[in-house]
Amino acid sequence: MTSATPGEAIPDSTDLLVVGAGPAGAAAAAQAAARGSDVVLLDAAVFPRDKTCGDGLTPRAVAGLHRLGMADLLDGRPRIRGLELHGWGASQRVAWPGAHRFGGYGSAIARTELDDAIRRFAVGRGARMVSGTKAVGAQLIGGRIESVTVTRDGERHQIRARDVIVADGVRSALGKSLGRQWHRNTAYGVAARSYAASAKSDHEWMGSHLELRDPEGGLLPGYGWVFPLGDGTVNVGVGALATAKRPASMALRPIVEHYARMVSDDWRLTSPPQRVASALLPMGGAVSGVAGANWMLIGDAAACVNPLNGEGIDYAIETAAMAVEMLASETDYATAWPALLRAEYGTAFAAARRAAGLLTVPQTVPVLGRPGIRSAKLMSTVVRVMGNLLTADDADLIARAWRSAGRVTSALEERPPFS
Ligand SMILES: Cc1cc2nc3c(=O)[nH]c(=O)nc-3n(C[C@H](O)[C@H](O)[C@H](O)COP(=O)(O)OP(=O)(O)OC[C@H]3O[C@@H](n4cnc5c(N)ncnc54)[C@H](O)[C@@H]3O)c2cc1C
Repeated sequence: MTSATPGEAIPDSTDLLVVGAGPAGAAAAAQAAARGSDVVLLDAAVFPRDKTCGDGLTPRAVAGLHRLGMADLLDGRPRIRGLELHGWGASQRVAWPGAHRFGGYGSAIARTELDDAIRRFAVGRGARMVSGTKAVGAQLIGGRIESVTVTRDGERHQIRARDVIVADGVRSALGKSLGRQWHRNTAYGVAARSYAASAKSDHEWMGSHLELRDPEGGLLPGYGWVFPLGDGTVNVGVGALATAKRPASMALRPIVEHYARMVSDDWRLTSPPQRVASALLPMGGAVSGVAGANWMLIGDAAACVNPLNGEGIDYAIETAAMAVEMLASETDYATAWPALLRAEYGTAFAAARRAAGLLTVPQTVPVLGRPGIRSAKLMSTVVRVMGNLLTADDADLIARAWRSAGRVTSALEERPPFS
């Protein structure tokens, strides 16, 4: 592991220890520090660090950055108006439906830069950064975390904390040691991203191919994306859905390379895909054990990822704000936190992961995709659901139908989200 940034001493104690300085942890640290708490933000990596991601920001993620007080970061960045959807010989351009409520536009920022910016913002608000330092376990007394064991350069230290926010990403090693379990019976994702030079890096639309094929021409239950970064490059990636019953066994590198060749002319790519990296994605709240008496899991650690597109930066920022609110409420997080996550996301996640599960059945994708891509109304609904632009306040027919589907699915599920 890389050594920590010089001058970052490991403290003995703090009010709030945030483990993981991705968008979730850094946003939580910024908000708690701004309220006057003593906050330690700890990460195993030294920043700036890379994170395997599509780098796409939905209008909801952009709104989250605005609320955080980071609107400046978006100056001069791509202003993405919606999605260009392709498949089965047809294309549809769909502006983000209802996005005006979230500021109106999406964007894209490479994670090396985005995450470092939020982290620095948190430090500017008063959080103490401790990088190059890994959390390896916790000491609990009566269900409360007394201290967290961390290691740096082979040496172990204890940090005592009144509260702990666990934001250590998909694998969530600390979450696991506290009892977090990932349930793979509902849909999860496998995804790979890459970067390519493009003459269309300033394009105002994100590209999305719903008909995703492997190099042999086999149809995959997933989609391909091209997200313009506005800096001469685009993020090109593929994501596929899987369940325990139908695991995704494909090698993603040849698929992303094949996909890049396929979009090369359209996106005027001037380099082959580089820095290919892939990751698994627990989604739709498919985890249990997300909180204890004085600790909460947020962001990817709590599987807060949209099951239909693998997007989670907006949830990371939102769950950070919700967790900081809960710190102030001094309730027992063990029951209050999963209940709040369910109230906020439960029905939408239940409906989306059921729909995602259906898409892993081989015949479903062409049966829905071929006519679907030709229907402007249906594609607008797809973008609304994929862009996470339906909120609990929406009362139109689609929003009500989606919520009803979620409620029915939740009631039928053996294990509703976050349980
Ligand atoms: C291929 C791919 C494409 C994606 N594309 C998009 C997209 O376009 N848009 C979108 O919104 N979302 C996308 N996502 C999802 C998005 O990347 C995540 O939802 C987001 O990163 C969640 O943020 P987080 O802060 O919860 O976790 P992370 O960003 O993963 O941050 C976790 C942090 O915890 C640290 N950490 C881990 N373990 C420890 C430990 N033991 N001790 C200390 N620190 C630790 C890590 O170093 C890391 O910095 C994609 C995901 C993948 C895999």
